[in-house]
Amino acid sequence: MEVAIAVRHTVARVHLPALQANYRTITELTIEAARASQRQPPQIIAVVKANAYGHGATRVAGALEAAGASMLACADIEEGIELRRDAIRVPILIFGALGISDLDGVFAYRLTPTISTPTAAQNLARAAAARGERLHCQLKIDTGMNRLGFRHDNLRRTLPAIAQSRHLAIDAVYTHFATADDPESGDFVCQRERFEAARRLVAEVGLHPAKAHAANSAALLRDEQVWYDAVRPGLLLYGVVPPPLATTLEIAPVLSLTSRIVAVKGLRPGEGVGYGLRYRPERPSTIAVVPAGYADGLDARLAGRASVLVRGRRVPIVGAVSMDMITIDVTALDVAPGDEVVILGRQGAERIDVREMAAAVGAAPYELLCRLGSRIDRVYL
Ligand SMILES: *Cc1c(COP(=O)(O)O)cnc(C)c1O
Repeated sequence: MEVAIAVRHTVARVHLPALQANYRTITELTIEAARASQRQPPQIIAVVKANAYGHGATRVAGALEAAGASMLACADIEEGIELRRDAIRVPILIFGALGISDLDGVFAYRLTPTISTPTAAQNLARAAAARGERLHCQLKIDTGMNRLGFRHDNLRRTLPAIAQSRHLAIDAVYTHFATADDPESGDFVCQRERFEAARRLVAEVGLHPAKAHAANSAALLRDEQVWYDAVRPGLLLYGVVPPPLATTLEIAPVLSLTSRIVAVKGLRPGEGVGYGLRYRPERPSTIAVVPAGYADGLDARLAGRASVLVRGRRVPIVGAVSMDMITIDVTALDVAPGDEVVILGRQGAERIDVREMAAAVGAAPYELLCRLGSRIDRVYL
């Protein structure tokens, strides 16, 4: 007997045409601005790390490849290998630090590693030499974030070894901004100046990478000067503007999260709801149960702080967020089991976006998107 596999009520819909439209919007922005200043438009390195910010790496990467992205970026070799196994062919840049044991994947799957320490450079050069290859890679400069990268103030000492290696081809030099989303921050300008000084030093030691890049979504929105030869948007591709920035660009959220009411019940005055009976309304109330909880990635702090949409209206999440469900107060609404609940997205004239949800719990939108659980079915449109 065949058993039909039911789709769960809680579903993340990933609108790939919206993703591609966002990609094109960013491309057009850079092409127009570059034309106005008579420069080459930057290439777009589309960031698909962390399962494409929870959207599903393979489908997202495929859609971006189809939209014309000439390079994708992942956090680590394992993510890159997964994309290659799923037949993604465009160059894939690996942002993260490299272990020694996982270097095989770089060669076997034609990934573009980042060299961010002198030791990593030695290991890669040795591995490339053993294979008789010249490995294409990118060089990361730490201009002040103090995470990965060669220190900007130590390059005269660290770069020559790389310049001398016959087995490393440095295609690009890049850096990452710590405060691009803070319009008040002078550190951004300081990092930009350090990067430009570092580029001159790179050339002085005899390295001539064809490309330089620095801009994440916030830097891309904020300062054309840091577009260089490529930009590296992540969040913006998914239709979310990094808070607190705003844009006039036509960017649409790619992901929506919906569920359905599975039970409705009346509450007598003074009765409580859920673990800890934390919600105790004084008046007779109606509670609806929605089968999505923290195991699906919903933040436990949403209780009492955020809303969902039912019948085109905002209704509060009340009681505690449980592992597998939330409870919402639908008093005075005419609801029934089966009614759609929008956790992220539009319903009627109302909309809840991930920025709003993140602000409600004091988190970053990045964090909430990445946390969307593996239990949630992703449906691709
Ligand atoms: C994640 C990441 C990006 C993209 O950042 P967004 O803020 O999502 O645009 C760009 N560059 C590096 C090195 C990253 O790690």
